[in-house]
Amino acid sequence: MDRIKLGLAGIGKIARDQHVPALAASDDFELVATASRHGRVEGVTGYVSIAEMIHACPQVEAVSLCTPPEGRFEQAMTAIRAGKHVMLEKPPAATVSEAEALAAAARASGVTLFATWHSREAAEVDAARTWLADRRIDAVRIRWMENIRQWHPGQDWILAAGGFGVFDPGINALSIATRILPQPLVVLHATMDVPANRACPLAAAITFRSGEAAVDACFDFLQTGGQTWDIEVDTDAGMLRLTHGGSRLELPGEPLVSGSNDEYPRLYRRFAELVRSGESDVDLRPIKLVADAFLVAERRVTEPFEF
Ligand code: NAP
Repeated sequence: MDRIKLGLAGIGKIARDQHVPALAASDDFELVATASRHGRVEGVTGYVSIAEMIHACPQVEAVSLCTPPEGRFEQAMTAIRAGKHVMLEKPPAATVSEAEALAAAARASGVTLFATWHSREAAEVDAARTWLADRRIDAVRIRWMENIRQWHPGQDWILAAGGFGVFDPGINALSIATRILPQPLVVLHATMDVPANRACPLAAAITFRSGEAAVDACFDFLQTGGQTWDIEVDTDAGMLRLTHGGSRLELPGEPLVSGSNDEYPRLYRRFAELVRSGESDVDLRPIKLVADAFLVAERRVTEPFEF
């Protein structure tokens, strides 16, 4: 089967760390061009924008966007209107209404839109979902705490309006929670700590319900030392612990299982399936929960933050 010719937009950290290696190993895609103002991929023709890339390289069939969420709407619209299939890094857009408009535009243009959630592809997420499916859920604790200076050095956009702040990683936890919990999550209360010189929170706490279960989530962007990407679920059959971003699973009475990282190869395999079957996959539940948290949040202004 012919490989799908792909253009990669926004050559920054995640494009270099994950997308380029996944594409190099892919039987489904051929990376034929990039669109980035400064970033380049060795051996691949680079353009400064998606519009220029599509104009110069009409053979591009699909575009994968690794730019920050703010500004991605116009970039994705440009590709969709040109009849290209589109894959979006998480979060899919800066707002829910942008993401919904992209889904409608993709339907109207007859192209695939894939709003990815890479953490859902972590090794043990599917097993956690299967184990929880028939259990009574009593309580859930989400702890997503990492060091912004280690993982996002100098990324000022992440704390600017539309950058999601601590929800840039935190939305990964919500993408897993919405996948593994049998009942929908409902936002009840939230607090957000926003540095005096920034627009988005560096820390947040959210209380949800999922069915009858209380769900308590803590997000922190200033965690030094060990990093924490864990979800614990108390059930009628004991506690499930899904840790290390979804790659390790502890179940009551069973040995710990730990899988290797295959998140981005899985995302590109899924994108190819969607393109070939003419379908889209746009699940907006994680971004809706973040938007709801912003609606109800009590905001506390904290010390200015510099990288
Ligand atoms: P990044 O290192 O800042 O790279 C993003 C690239 O997008 C930049 O290098 C820049 O390249 C381009 N860009 C276009 N408009 C921009 C703007 N207004 N401000 C800044 N850059 C702009 O960011 P990243 O860490 O790769 O994250 C990009 C997306 O991937 C985010 O949605 C993030 O949530 C997601 N993601 C990141 C990680 C991670 O570990 N970093 C993991 C998973 C997912 P040019 O200057 O060349 O145009």
